[in-house]
Amino acid sequence: MTKAQPSEPLSPAREHTRTGMSKTALKQAYIDNLFYIQGRFREVATPHDLYMAAAFTARDRLLARWVKSAQFYKTSHARTVCYLSAEFLLGPHLANNLVNLGIAQVSREAGEELDLDFAAILEEEEEPGLGNGGLGRLAACFMDSLSTLGIPAIGYGIRYEFGIFDQAIENGWQVEKSDTWLRNGNPWEIPRPKICFPVRYGGHTEQYRNHDGQTRTRWVPDMEICGMAYDTPILGYGVGNVNLLRLWKAEASQSFDFQAFNVGDYYGAVHAKIEAETISKVLYPNDEPEAGKELRLKQQYFFVSCSMQDMIRLHLNTVGPLETFAEKFAAQLNDTHPALAVAELMRLFMDDHDMTWEQAWDITRRTFCYTNHTLLPEALETWSVSLFERLLPRHLEIVYEINRRFLDEVRVYFIRDEERVARMSLIAEGDDRRIRMANLAVVGSHAVNGVAALHSELIKTTILKDFHDLWPEKFHNVTNGVTQRRFVVVSNPRLSDLITEICGSDRWIRNLSCLRDLERHADDPDLQARWRRVKIAAKRDLAAWLGRNAGGVLDPQALFDVQAKRLHEYKRQHLNLLHIVRFYQRIKLNPNQDFVPRAFIFGGKAAPGYYLAKLIIKLINSVAEVVNHDPQVNGFIRVAFLPDFNVKNGQRLYPAADLSEQISLAGKEASGTGNMKFSMNGALTIGTLDGANVEIREEVGADNFFLFGMTAEEVRQKQSEGYRPWDYYHGDHELKSDIDLINSGLFSHGDTNLFRPLTDHLINHDPFMVLADYRAYLECQDRVSEAWRNPSNWDRMSILNVARMGKFSSDRAIQEYADNIWNIKPEPVDL
Ligand SMILES: *Cc1c(COP(=O)(O)O)cnc(C)c1O
Repeated sequence: MTKAQPSEPLSPAREHTRTGMSKTALKQAYIDNLFYIQGRFREVATPHDLYMAAAFTARDRLLARWVKSAQFYKTSHARTVCYLSAEFLLGPHLANNLVNLGIAQVSREAGEELDLDFAAILEEEEEPGLGNGGLGRLAACFMDSLSTLGIPAIGYGIRYEFGIFDQAIENGWQVEKSDTWLRNGNPWEIPRPKICFPVRYGGHTEQYRNHDGQTRTRWVPDMEICGMAYDTPILGYGVGNVNLLRLWKAEASQSFDFQAFNVGDYYGAVHAKIEAETISKVLYPNDEPEAGKELRLKQQYFFVSCSMQDMIRLHLNTVGPLETFAEKFAAQLNDTHPALAVAELMRLFMDDHDMTWEQAWDITRRTFCYTNHTLLPEALETWSVSLFERLLPRHLEIVYEINRRFLDEVRVYFIRDEERVARMSLIAEGDDRRIRMANLAVVGSHAVNGVAALHSELIKTTILKDFHDLWPEKFHNVTNGVTQRRFVVVSNPRLSDLITEICGSDRWIRNLSCLRDLERHADDPDLQARWRRVKIAAKRDLAAWLGRNAGGVLDPQALFDVQAKRLHEYKRQHLNLLHIVRFYQRIKLNPNQDFVPRAFIFGGKAAPGYYLAKLIIKLINSVAEVVNHDPQVNGFIRVAFLPDFNVKNGQRLYPAADLSEQISLAGKEASGTGNMKFSMNGALTIGTLDGANVEIREEVGADNFFLFGMTAEEVRQKQSEGYRPWDYYHGDHELKSDIDLINSGLFSHGDTNLFRPLTDHLINHDPFMVLADYRAYLECQDRVSEAWRNPSNWDRMSILNVARMGKFSSDRAIQEYADNIWNIKPEPVDL
């Protein structure tokens, strides 16, 4: 797989220049970069210097391709995708770029010849944690696939100075540490001081007559900052295409002369600068529920305004008149965080480019598409009208006008249905009037999609039902995917090599459906044995890493049962915990029985203000402390919490899992992508019929998937009848005993109150129906243990899981967006 790929030289002398691809060229470039960029001789270089030199060596080769791509796109007039996302959870760049450049292997050899510790160099990179979880990681996978498929694209987002916090575990509790990822410099980005746009806030609007005597609106803001571009090149795998990730940093405005406003007020002037820079200072660490804070609205408007101005600039520079803007660009809204772009583009078209409402609206709608990511009503974003008016008075006028025209359309279509009109309005009326961002996104877009088949069906019947009734043709499904480059080739090189060998080629790296070739070897005992050795090696690596970083000992022969994802009640880490407590009790009651040894491994961050999620982390660590120190059960059960679950640590985890926990309450997880990463690495899934689990099960076959629990329909039914967790607690003595054991103080040094908020909540409210699915989950876990006792069958199922994962490549997802939503053709750039 990671063979050096000979490539066309840019110039005949390329092999001898700075960006040559041979081992000799790489070695020379590395030594030069260490000296000329880091200013170090080998003898005094720090590990960080060594990493930087490697990063620059890779970057030089990206830039060579980037220049070529940019020139090519400019002449080809291809439609360009603008992927607007408040989050990009990229993960470390170096290893991924080496793979995509086709020089992973030769770089390793070059490193060895230079006597470098290649693994330590890769380890040195600090990942840009510019996202919370699945949504941000999806954006990153999509960037990789867009480039690999040769689709011209720009990712637009925010260059947060502090990304998602680093998680430490102290005394069993999560402690948040600030993420200072830029501290040592970021070799992957290129600052573009000349690509800089004004962004305004506050003030009021005025009407005036333009030169043609038409009435126009002018916004007179009372604050202006500036957004500066930082570009990161994103290279596709085995192609010449390099796309751009353009992230905006907020700075004090140069043109806005605050000195004039603050004569002699030096501190006031500095304060204004600090206030400006605050806007891109920190990522909000809440995953699903929205933090309705003023700064967040400022952030959203900030990046959206810079991005729209940039797109207009690009268009005017290359294509020309704005009438063809929608033919040049497809703008995808990754959730509602960038939905303000609809109002901003309208404002720019009308106020700055003199378009009529009708013209502007036609182009705007043909430009935007919206991806919905959640079914949780509490996660649907709204902004208070009063806050919006104070910050964005002109945009409020535009939203009102969009709404006025839209509701007239609704009234004509659904005559005399004012309740429906009220539900569809962009404004939720009441004491606290609020703007509904999902409604704005749907009205302003020509296509709306969910992220898994079940989710796309559910949005049509629940949160977006009224819109589906009005515009059924607008609705699509694009099931999420993940990139096999990062999540198999980079993170699981042993498996990657084995797959390539068995399939007889590395075509699967570009076309994941080629994994089907594995299927006919699934029963081959020889392959099964090798498959198992690969898995055990990954488990050994993980166990060693956990030993160094979290303490504890895991036996690589045990079944590694892994749940790694953000901590959320709906994801039900506490259901997993109840099974662990039950397993523990069973061993204690039957010490001589032959149990299947399991290592339960968790990873995941909780939002800093999410009390119950943090208490669940404490409970996991508390159970771990007791169980891991109980010699009676030690041979059968271990519990570990991997601290600071991020992309880098995920890459250690996915290859080492035997069992993937995907146990959300049916109807709550939009898609999930962790489920795909695990399965691609040979883990079997225990899961509910939720999100993309449904399709994973369809693909891998019901026999190769551990299904349990209520369906979304059964959940709806039970909730409408009135769900009473209390009855389950009293009706199932094992369940009662597990909850009571938690309350007994066994896991809390005798404190019988510590976990009460969690257990009381479960017994009395249990909004995600943990107790209702408890029994089915235990029975399913018994089936897992039984299956594990037959290693050859387990390996067979594992091979089949991998063989049938073709659908879940983000390449397939992007191809579907390109065909069904963007109407875009690839523009491959030759190497
Ligand atoms: C893939 C990924 C996620 C998403 O996991 P889900 O199980 O789909 O919620 C979250 N965080 C990181 C770091 C990931 O890589």
